[in-house]
Amino acid sequence: MPKSIDHCTTAAAAADYRLLADDEPAPVLEIGRQRRSNFLVVVDHASRRIPRRLGDLGLPASELQRHIAWDIGALAVARHVAAELDAPLVAQNYSRLVIDCNRDPKVASSIPTVGESIEIPGNIALDEHQVAARRREIFDPYHDHLRALLDERRAAGRPTFLVSQHSMTHIFRGVRREMHAAVLYNRDRRFAGLVLDMLRREPDLHVADNEPYFVSDATDYTIPRHAEERGLPHVEIEIRQDLLHEDAGQLQWAGRIARALRDAEHAFLGAAA
Ligand SMILES: [Zn+2]
Repeated sequence: MPKSIDHCTTAAAAADYRLLADDEPAPVLEIGRQRRSNFLVVVDHASRRIPRRLGDLGLPASELQRHIAWDIGALAVARHVAAELDAPLVAQNYSRLVIDCNRDPKVASSIPTVGESIEIPGNIALDEHQVAARRREIFDPYHDHLRALLDERRAAGRPTFLVSQHSMTHIFRGVRREMHAAVLYNRDRRFAGLVLDMLRREPDLHVADNEPYFVSDATDYTIPRHAEERGLPHVEIEIRQDLLHEDAGQLQWAGRIARALRDAEHAFLGAAA
């Protein structure tokens, strides 16, 4: 039997079900709201933290370290990129195994019951109160925070280039991924295409164009809802996680991405002028 599976025992307990205790971290991590550049960096899968109430979701510790729980190295890279660009950073503080903050809550995999190929016992047969609490306490505060920040910037007449930082596993279902990184987008390639051009200036770097997956309304939330709906220039960046295990790799990638973003911004604004 997996340990620590959360169950609502009575109807009364179910109605006041709360996920996070008062002493647990807030769901949103924000750094540098006052920073001045046009960029906003977001990290949907920044953390592998699980609310105490959910225990280990019935998973072995080894699985909770893996990419199914979080985007390894993505927050570290994003922090450096945001500092380098003088941009605010907003990140989700809980694992995507609790609720995936880059997925519409209406989609079945919002609270995944399977991660790659392993079943997630603590996410199976949840009742409506448990599902509602994950959305109310983890998903909604994060996206409400982003919405408010973007509203504030718009009201102040400040442009925003939205950068969504992720990392991907280097071996997926037994197949090794050859690309080092990828630039992803959905309906609007304008800014992402420029970032791709800038990253491809390094001849030895293999940067994929909208592969191994792409942004869509079914598989994503942050870019469609916060960038596309507002018409903001944006890009989603994936880096292979095995390149980000050490500080040196994180710094190298952050420097590379910050340069590409800055040059792409200049090209974008130049083209628009
Ligand atoms: Zn991710």
